[in-house]
Amino acid sequence: MNQNTRIREKLERLCCNNLAACTDRQLYEALLSLTNEMAEEKESKEGKKKVYYISAEFLIGKLLSNNLINLGIYEEVKETLAQYGKELSAIEELEPEPSLGNGGLGRLAACFLDSMASLGMAGDGVGLNYHYGLFLQSFQNNLQKESPNPWLEEKNWLVKTDATYPIQFGGFTVQSRMYDILVTGFENRTNRLHLFDVETVDESIVGEGISFDKEDIARNLTLFLYPDDSDDAGRRLRVYQQYFMVSNAARLILDECRAKGSNLYDLPEYAAIQINDTHPSMVIPELIRLLMEEGIPMSKAIGIVSKTCAYTNHTILAEALEKWPMDYLNQVVPHLMPIIRELDTQVKEKYSQKELAIIDENRLVHMANMDIHYGYSVNGVAYLHTEILKNNELNHFYKIYPEKFNNKTNGITFRRWLMHCNHELADFLNERIGTGWQKDAEELARLLDYRSDSAVRNRLLEIKQGNKRRLAAYLKATQGVELDVDSVFDIQIKRLHEYKRQQLNALYVIHKYLEIKGGKRPARPITVIFGAKAAPAYVIAKDIIHLILCLEQVINNDPAVSPYLKVVMVENYNVTKAEQLIPACDISEQISLASKEASGTGNMKFMLNGAVTLGTMDGANVEIAQLVGEENIYIFGESSDTVIEHYKKADYVSKEYYEANEDIQEAVDFIVSETLLKVGQRENLTRLHRELISKDWFMTLLDYESYAAKKEEALADYEDRQSWAEKMLVNTAKAGFFSSDRTIAEYNRDIWQV
Ligand SMILES: *Cc1c(COP(=O)(O)O)cnc(C)c1O
Repeated sequence: MNQNTRIREKLERLCCNNLAACTDRQLYEALLSLTNEMAEEKESKEGKKKVYYISAEFLIGKLLSNNLINLGIYEEVKETLAQYGKELSAIEELEPEPSLGNGGLGRLAACFLDSMASLGMAGDGVGLNYHYGLFLQSFQNNLQKESPNPWLEEKNWLVKTDATYPIQFGGFTVQSRMYDILVTGFENRTNRLHLFDVETVDESIVGEGISFDKEDIARNLTLFLYPDDSDDAGRRLRVYQQYFMVSNAARLILDECRAKGSNLYDLPEYAAIQINDTHPSMVIPELIRLLMEEGIPMSKAIGIVSKTCAYTNHTILAEALEKWPMDYLNQVVPHLMPIIRELDTQVKEKYSQKELAIIDENRLVHMANMDIHYGYSVNGVAYLHTEILKNNELNHFYKIYPEKFNNKTNGITFRRWLMHCNHELADFLNERIGTGWQKDAEELARLLDYRSDSAVRNRLLEIKQGNKRRLAAYLKATQGVELDVDSVFDIQIKRLHEYKRQQLNALYVIHKYLEIKGGKRPARPITVIFGAKAAPAYVIAKDIIHLILCLEQVINNDPAVSPYLKVVMVENYNVTKAEQLIPACDISEQISLASKEASGTGNMKFMLNGAVTLGTMDGANVEIAQLVGEENIYIFGESSDTVIEHYKKADYVSKEYYEANEDIQEAVDFIVSETLLKVGQRENLTRLHRELISKDWFMTLLDYESYAAKKEEALADYEDRQSWAEKMLVNTAKAGFFSSDRTIAEYNRDIWQV
């Protein structure tokens, strides 16, 4: 029986033998069952050692199409449906996106799961089953409004398992339940993402907006990803969540390893535990505790765990390295405290420097420090980031444990970020260079043979144009905005953070607006697209969103300007939106303050899809620049060394830049002009204005001049369509290095060895 017949028969059976009469909803549910059934057939018990990738976030995005692609049945399903007058794309739209992550870190975890399965490795994810993903963002009065984002429908991807554990907190115990999402590998094995939930969770306690009783742990524990942490109760809830996650993970790992024959002393031969950022750090003391309960002496237990756990650092932003007050831990996990204290004592007996302590003089527990002392590997996520960790942020540790430090430059799965989101480009590549790149991304380099081939260049331009047209139609339908598809699409989509510097982009937009008002028109219209959520309690980030939305209103409604410049802030930026936006991008904005973006992965997705980067020498931009060469990227701004010096000397004074440059002054002052105040809130705009002039912690004004100049250069170059097409081609061709298959192969070679 061929694949098509099998799929048709299965779908028919799932649809009560009347596929033509099915609604899209029924078909979606039938496809969900079909893919899960086929995915289960590819599960494997092979392999003694398994990777457990523990992460507070898995930003997996919609799963249907991706699973169909990975199972190798996308085309067959699409054809079968078409025979009955059904459209797969319409069915895909019904799937809610599980937004179980904030941004890059969670998306990385999702790409890694895909790559582990695609490489045939035994590797499961472990996390939490948040009932509401990251909030749903809407815009009202040019402000961000947050509302709950449920994703769990009656029929969903979760498979309920029998695994359940009593999880002990200070003063009470909750019962957990494990749910699994099957992770399909591309023409390879199926792994699992284990998401733990608490049996007593209660969605009905969610009130106005996203508020709820933060003290009612048994009912609120898994309701939200990152509950608001602007108060004590919110921060404590995070500790409850983290312990719940790792205690379940530790029990599951020990159960699975014992079932495979481990005597627990040999745990490192059965399990490699990757601690994704500091959120899962308590897995270290928890595992030690559980091993001790099994009768293993503490010193032995510490040794075993230290050979099993490895830590990935994702940031050098001090505020993001978690430090939990002892008081919280005493309340939430009193049974872990003797172990954490002992780990700290052992460190203090060996090393006197206070930077190395786990518990500091303010009774704060430094989670990363515990990971580094008691894990066997510490990795950064891009070349520059790892160098900064070694030479600056974590230098004290690097000096005592040089052998633990290693770099693993991030990657993205090309299944989602090319095959799924850009069918036209994927098909064209298959046609020109064969399908080998789907399994070996480095084969994309074969495209370089065509860099001077005008037919290929023209085709790349056509594909881009088609994607821009599709995006324009999508934004028209979803947000009612009218885009000029012949304009340059300049896109910055990522979490809103001052270090990512959306405000720098916004200042340029203001400058352009004023220039056009003054009669100087650009060679070609420009469309500047933003997409970003701001953490609900992050005031300045929300002010920046407010500024962008005010600019959108003023500029798009000004008939003298809008034919030449448009601003669009995409509502509720998430994976699904990213999949629409990235293939349509001409200029990819990666403009973080050098040294602050650990890697970035958005930059890789854009490059792969033929956008040209306008960026600083930060994170993986450094490696992109090295790969594509300076004629195929637009680099501006001060170097990370200079920036780090400024911080050390505390000698950056934004006001000096403001006073020295008329363009800067004009753009910054426009934030509080009559024009903007008419559409915006005085409080927000004046606060942002003041922030930029009197603080500007992430040095926006430092790089403004070189940013504006570089952008002008890129816009001018864009007019030579043939040479721009060559830049696009080189970017796609050189993107192979950024496949997460390569990243995962390196993790396995250097850290996991499964
Ligand atoms: C890739 C991705 C990110 C990360 O983007 P950066 O530009 O690397 O910060 C964030 N959110 C979503 C939805 C993504 O797909």
